Amino acid sequence: MTNAISEKSSTNKKQNVHDYLKKVYETVVTRDPNETEFHQAVALIFKSLIPVLEKYPTYMEKGILEQIIEPERVITFRVPWVDDEGNTHVNRGFRVQFNSALGPFKGGLRFHPSVNLSIVKFLGLEQIIKNSLTGQPIGGGKGGADFDPKGKSDNEIMRFCRSFMTELAKYIGPNTDIPAGDIGVGAREIGFMFGQYKKMRSSFDAGVLTGKGLEYGGSLARTEATGYGTIYFLEEMLKDKDLSVSGSTVVVSGSGNVSIYAIEKAMELGATVVACSDSDGYIYHANGIDLDVVKEIKEVNNGRISEYIETYPEATYVEGCTSIWEVPCDVALPCATQNELDEDAAGLLVQNGVKAVGEGANMPCNTEAIDVFLDNDVLYGPAKAVNAGGVAVSALEMAQNSMRMSWTFEEVDAQLQEIMKNIYQNCVAASGEFGLPGNLEAGANIAGFRKVADAMIAQGVV
Ligand code: NDP
Repeated sequence: MTNAISEKSSTNKKQNVHDYLKKVYETVVTRDPNETEFHQAVALIFKSLIPVLEKYPTYMEKGILEQIIEPERVITFRVPWVDDEGNTHVNRGFRVQFNSALGPFKGGLRFHPSVNLSIVKFLGLEQIIKNSLTGQPIGGGKGGADFDPKGKSDNEIMRFCRSFMTELAKYIGPNTDIPAGDIGVGAREIGFMFGQYKKMRSSFDAGVLTGKGLEYGGSLARTEATGYGTIYFLEEMLKDKDLSVSGSTVVVSGSGNVSIYAIEKAMELGATVVACSDSDGYIYHANGIDLDVVKEIKEVNNGRISEYIETYPEATYVEGCTSIWEVPCDVALPCATQNELDEDAAGLLVQNGVKAVGEGANMPCNTEAIDVFLDNDVLYGPAKAVNAGGVAVSALEMAQNSMRMSWTFEEVDAQLQEIMKNIYQNCVAASGEFGLPGNLEAGANIAGFRKVADAMIAQGVV
């Protein structure tokens, strides 16, 4: 009798949670029906939270989910700029200040023609959880513009960045909101934006942007942080299964900041990286990619990855970026962009014996692809956890700026390694505690969410 009652109450609890999540999700979709990437990010997080809400219904009673999926503030603005021929262009700028429960808003700026509110909101929502996982006092935000930096001169980039910052400056500050780079925004763009911010404020507020140049307040190891952190996380994940980066064959998509430094660290630890890509296609080099050549093409000359075969004619270049996942490997690291790895690609990877997948990019695997990995016992490291090293070192850059001092590369790198280990352990612990062992996606969402939710409850509804 007692058993029957408790079974019934457990079924009721499950139903309540299910109904609640469905209702909140429907509100999200009804409010903004076109924001498909944002819906995808919300659905992934909600799926992980089912056992948490069953155990702690207070999160439902206090309306935490309704609050967490609605940004504190959304700013969109006009970015007019003049090209080298004197023509005027107008782009759209965004900043989503999503959640400040744990600290000032923190998250990158993306300059890419695909940027819209859905993309910025999905990135911002993921950023809340990611920043929480780092254990540092930073809230979540994200921004950018639908501006295409490709093919623009330095002067055009400078004019765009200055115009962008002229508006953004009204909303950010070292204790309010601290942007950084992302796709299309590197040290050059951060420099131009910092220059404009300083001019407008007549004040050297180093802590207002991260990813700065080393000459004026940047942190050593920030450039490497996301890629290195990805490999530190991967190594932890592999170690638990008595595997190692050393001796593995690795495929990395993209050839930007995250990809290049993931490749560098993987090679340093003894892996052979056989393929990488850009948005036009991928290169395959069976003996292992020559990273110096990739850096020369992408970092120095802003060129195309296809140029690699001019130096190594024995390597192959394949047109089209999505087919990179046909290359057999032990470890796949999608480090380019969202939804670049679908169910079919995941199936191929599994068929070819992939052992681990680590998301260097944000939400690169779609929902179906993740299910394929989990169903086939492939180690799967979700972006929120795997690529958190970038923002973690950004927070270390802020700390150094506040102290007006700088740490050595080794000091920052040691802290990064420690942070990535902790993130991994916390994801494992949370997934185990809520009955989902081995599901690091759930572990990351649960561990990240609970800290933010508890801080929101402590601060009350405002
Ligand atoms: P970059 O702009 O430095 O590089 C992006 C790379 O991805 C380029 O090689 C680009 O090629 C390639 N790319 C873009 N779209 C596609 C596509 N559809 N298929 C294949 N390749 C593509 O960006 P980052 O390296 O900084 O960022 C990459 C990802 O990592 C993003 O998802 C970002 O949000 C995430 N991330 C970045 C962090 C950072 O610190 N930089 C921190 C955490 C996450 P092309 O040159 O042709 O455009």
